[in-house]
Amino acid sequence: MLRIALLYPELLGTYGDGGNALVLAERARRRGIDVRSITVSMADPLVAADIYLLGGGEDGPQRQACDLLAAGSLASRVADGAAVLAVCAGLQILGVRFAVAGDDAYDGLGLVEATTVRGSRRSVGDIAVDVSGRTMVGFENHGGRTKLARGVAPLGAVQRGQGNDGVNDGFRAPRLWATYAHGPVLALNPWLADEILSEAVGEELEPLASVADVLYEERLGSVMARRVG
Ligand code: GLN
Repeated sequence: MLRIALLYPELLGTYGDGGNALVLAERARRRGIDVRSITVSMADPLVAADIYLLGGGEDGPQRQACDLLAAGSLASRVADGAAVLAVCAGLQILGVRFAVAGDDAYDGLGLVEATTVRGSRRSVGDIAVDVSGRTMVGFENHGGRTKLARGVAPLGAVQRGQGNDGVNDGFRAPRLWATYAHGPVLALNPWLADEILSEAVGEELEPLASVADVLYEERLGSVMARRVG
């Protein structure tokens, strides 16, 4: 049984990031994998799961979610073997510190040596990122700029848009995927959903062709056709 938990969608649910949970569950079910989908709301305990999903959020809800995740000890779930896909505010929360409105620094969960400061202006628009030779596409809207400590691997190199700092996007650590890309990113990039699933179930998955592949190619073409900058 693969347990997929969507965390605090009422706080971290901008741009339909909760769709990442639906995509993972559906792509697993179509391979015959038994899935349990769980939504963890603010009043709920942070239940055990195999994959946790964190979405984007505005500054206030982001801090609230961070407090709940610290209290529920997401870090110890990860230490026990759970995987996390974190988007935007979720990415910032997994780091050691993040600054949101007012420039005040807030302690994150510290799962990864990543620090987010406030940029001079928001980054809004399409993003394309080279993730191990494949281009991940998505949409970004954030004021934070994220710096990774030496030795922390980004998820990939930015081809269009801003990501962490205009050069790299997100981070990749054992069982952790983090990106600034909304979309929902796994609906836009079905191959990335399969990478996460495959690692969680510990085996290669059967190929699964669907209209999502066609839509991915279309979006990729239109994002990459735009001027860099
Ligand atoms: N509040 C954070 C920022 O502006 C995250 C935004 C988001 O999740 N879209 O940087």
